[in-house]
Amino acid sequence: MKAEPRAQLRLLDLQKLDSTLQQLERQRTHLPVLARLAELAQQRSAAGDYLVRAQTAQSDVQWELAKSDADVQLVRDRAARDQARLDAGTGSAKDLQALQHELVSLARRQADLEEIELDVMERAERADEIVAEASGAVAALDEQIASATSERDQALAGLSAQVSEVGAPRQQLVDELPGDLLGLYEKLRADKGGVGAAMLHARRCLGCQLEVNAADLTAIRAAAADEVLRCEECRRILIRTPESGL
Ligand SMILES: [Zn+2]
Repeated sequence: MKAEPRAQLRLLDLQKLDSTLQQLERQRTHLPVLARLAELAQQRSAAGDYLVRAQTAQSDVQWELAKSDADVQLVRDRAARDQARLDAGTGSAKDLQALQHELVSLARRQADLEEIELDVMERAERADEIVAEASGAVAALDEQIASATSERDQALAGLSAQVSEVGAPRQQLVDELPGDLLGLYEKLRADKGGVGAAMLHARRCLGCQLEVNAADLTAIRAAAADEVLRCEECRRILIRTPESGL
């Protein structure tokens, strides 16, 4: 393949822009904030699950508390009714004595139930605290996620702007370069990790970093200036410049 030496040099300019684009793409997918966001998402999911469990426990203990309240109220009402009957003094002496006995046993029962109620109230209070803590943890994580998301978006916008800057000069080079040279470059670039053309610098191919051997160097010196050379080691397009050491 043949291409004017000037076009070959322009290919190095294109390679430089493409390497920049490749670096920007790598930065885009390796932003540190992405790893942080993934970790935060995991923490948020665990915190959310914990909150749901805490809320379930809270509603269970609230139900228990309502039932305990109702149990105590039932005994109080019964005692109040008995007391009213006793105060009214109606009924036989035996009836009144039975009422007195029942009042004593109701008072005992009420004391027991109130003790249970107190225990449930303490547990309800603790459950409220746990829910409040869990809600706080979820809110704090949501805040961190929002801030990291905005940091990520800013970083991505910055990278996009840099990509856009490269777009126009790259297109100009693509328009200028001969089609066959460009086609070969693009094919090599796709096959060889993003580098299709490399400078021969101080007798070394900057694509594979290997030094060109004496026999190949002789062939390169003998080649016409418009001959498109390839590195014998990595097969990339090898571009001669004044720094090639020929
Ligand atoms: Zn090479």
